Amino acid sequence: MTIPFDNSYARLPERFFARQSPEPVKAPELIVLNRDLAGRLGLDPDWLAGPEGVAMLSGNAMPEGAEPIAQAYAGHQFGGFVPRLGDGRAVLLGEVVAPDGARFDLQLKGAGRTAFSRGRSDGRAWLGPVLREYVLSEAMAALGLPTTRALAALRTGEVVARDAMGRPGAILARVAASHIRVGTFQYFAARDDLDGLRTLLKELKTRHYPECETPLDLLEAVVAAQARLVAGWMSVGFIHGVMNTDNMALSGETIDYGPCAFMDSYHPGRVFSSIDQFGRYAYARQPQIAVWNLAQFATCLLPLMGEREAAIEAASAAVDGFIVQYQREWLRRMGRKIGIAEAGEDDLPLIEDLLNRMATEQADFTRVFSALRRDPQSARDEFTEPLAFDLWHGDWQGRIAREADPASVMARTNPLRIARNHQVEAMIAAALDGDDAPLHRLLEALVDPYEEDARFTAYEAAPRPDERVMRTFC
Ligand code: AMP
Ligand code: MG
Ligand code: MG
Repeated sequence: MTIPFDNSYARLPERFFARQSPEPVKAPELIVLNRDLAGRLGLDPDWLAGPEGVAMLSGNAMPEGAEPIAQAYAGHQFGGFVPRLGDGRAVLLGEVVAPDGARFDLQLKGAGRTAFSRGRSDGRAWLGPVLREYVLSEAMAALGLPTTRALAALRTGEVVARDAMGRPGAILARVAASHIRVGTFQYFAARDDLDGLRTLLKELKTRHYPECETPLDLLEAVVAAQARLVAGWMSVGFIHGVMNTDNMALSGETIDYGPCAFMDSYHPGRVFSSIDQFGRYAYARQPQIAVWNLAQFATCLLPLMGEREAAIEAASAAVDGFIVQYQREWLRRMGRKIGIAEAGEDDLPLIEDLLNRMATEQADFTRVFSALRRDPQSARDEFTEPLAFDLWHGDWQGRIAREADPASVMARTNPLRIARNHQVEAMIAAALDGDDAPLHRLLEALVDPYEEDARFTAYEAAPRPDERVMRTFC
């Protein structure tokens, strides 16, 4: 088949990227193909699953119209600025224009070394993180939150060196609204490249925010998108794990699933990432970090915003706008989680009281809220000291007596199933043994996480103490 590529990014000036074909792999083998997503893109899933499709998805053959590039970007990694990062192991094949006109980046992650790979890094990915990203990004999409998607995962038939151990190599074919990051702007700002910044801003506007007229409009739109996104993460207990500025997409999608996790038992200080030593990216810090990242983005735009003092003032106000928008969205989402259709400021203490009790009593985030929608009394079993729940329950009953249909509000807001770490780890362990059945079953269980489905009750369970995963790796 001919893929309807139209590669706007590859038409930008040469300094925006390095032209880069994927490095071929020895024995590509499709593990999983996202047929629904293929359909959404207007691609024939049977073709993708066939020899030509697999050759493309593994990077072994470029289809007509692909213009493979590695994108240039910079970024703050754990607060330290790196002026040149870029795609060190990912290649953007091009932009697919779907039948409805929507445009999607098609990127291969783990496609080999590029002009941006550093030192001894191999440009590859291994099976564990590839399947982790596949499952978590699809889980995020099914929850209804903006995210990059997974089109396919493949084994490469090669071994990659990790932790002094050989691991099976893999490639993720990833689909995104775009891969323009805060770090992409930082790349040009760090070089005082005003033309580059203008060009990038134009690309950002065209792709995501056509209604915006000025750089300030764009900044405000990006801030609003991040406020919605991070509030969404918080409402499902998601911890990104590596909110570096190169991992914040300006489209407002969740991007770069590394050592991320959906938490089991609730605690605001929860951290899973093995590389986040000081908890910079802990659950409850995510909104603050988003503001910090947005301030970096705003700083990049200053030279395009006219007189400096006025620009700083306007940009600061725009970034500060995150807080109000985030809080509003958080309150709306958390209110719905306890059955309040339109929560107001007055409802804040009730929500916070529940969360505080959950944190103290090690309650499972997803299970408390799913119990509330099904059988509120059963939520008490999620607390080490059930009385802590009972004390809240009375206040809550009083409040939702004023709601028209709290059960159905909660049913649409509180997932029954999330991609739990222990399930993800078990799935990866099986795949390492060549058994992909747990992957397929997990994906199936997460397709509609709000829907009751007796086939998948096992996926509702919290981990037993011996199953608990406290660290995630990338
Ligand atoms: P990440 O932590 O995944 O956001 O990646 C940060 C940077 O490291 C990006 O520039 C990646 O392209 C690069 N990188 C990560 N892993 C590898 C690898 N195995 N080979 C080459 N570059 C890598
Ligand atoms: Mg170049
Ligand atoms: Mg990254």
